[in-house]
Amino acid sequence: MRPLGVHTSIKESILNAIEEAKNLQCETFQIFLHSPRIWKIPEFEEEIIEKFKKKIQENNLSPFVVHASYLINLISSNPKTINSSKYLLKREVLMSDLLGADYYVIHLKDNREMQNEEIFDKVREAFSKIGKLQKCKILIENTAKSKITARISDLFDTFKNINTENVSGVCIDTCHLFAAGYDISNEKVISEFIEEVKNFGDFNLIKLIHLNDSKASVGSGIDRHEHIGRGNIGIKGFENFFKIKEISHVPLILETPKKSPQDDIKNLTAVREILKKLES
Ligand SMILES: [Zn+2]
Ligand SMILES: [Zn+2]
Repeated sequence: MRPLGVHTSIKESILNAIEEAKNLQCETFQIFLHSPRIWKIPEFEEEIIEKFKKKIQENNLSPFVVHASYLINLISSNPKTINSSKYLLKREVLMSDLLGADYYVIHLKDNREMQNEEIFDKVREAFSKIGKLQKCKILIENTAKSKITARISDLFDTFKNINTENVSGVCIDTCHLFAAGYDISNEKVISEFIEEVKNFGDFNLIKLIHLNDSKASVGSGIDRHEHIGRGNIGIKGFENFFKIKEISHVPLILETPKKSPQDDIKNLTAVREILKKLES
């Protein structure tokens, strides 16, 4: 079965994130290691780490994904920001590895003043300084607006140029894809997307899908997640996307809005219904 899950909260404790995933009958889940808008990252006690890893195994949750915090900017024009970012990146990736994460997903930022060559050098250098990892691999996520990661051709070009042994592929976010100009509710655009992946990358490099509908319009470059089926992508768009057979096994993780505990249930149900319909 195709793994489906949600981004869960570590607010109470990191162990709670697993409980949340389990209660929602998820096969996979994603977390932040700490509040994503601050630089401070806490240490986890060894005992908690062991409990966490054991619980993941007991509940067959795979893959376990960590999302990078938002402040990390490896291509800032401010060298101070780059230094703090490299430090936090290394801490987060090593911590993810220690917790047994399969993937660490990061959006690279954008910098219009910097040449692509310099951008790639900076990112590659930061990734290669992390050191050896046991299991965790970094994935580069597509973004709604960026000269290096919004178009699929650019995303794969970036991947090729920053590729170190710590990086294993890309994550495709459906909301970002739509906002970047790919109207996946249109079958013709789906064919164009498939061609672009084939021509510039490889379907095998798509390791994860972030499943979000889009509040903003196609090509707007605005990243606003919406509940599945209630945004501009709509049920039809997700049906089209799930029909792409080359990625029909790739794990799906929701990052849809959460105002009430019911929201995850509603979104998971919507996705399960679409998948079931396509199976029959
Ligand atoms: Zn995402
Ligand atoms: Zn987003």
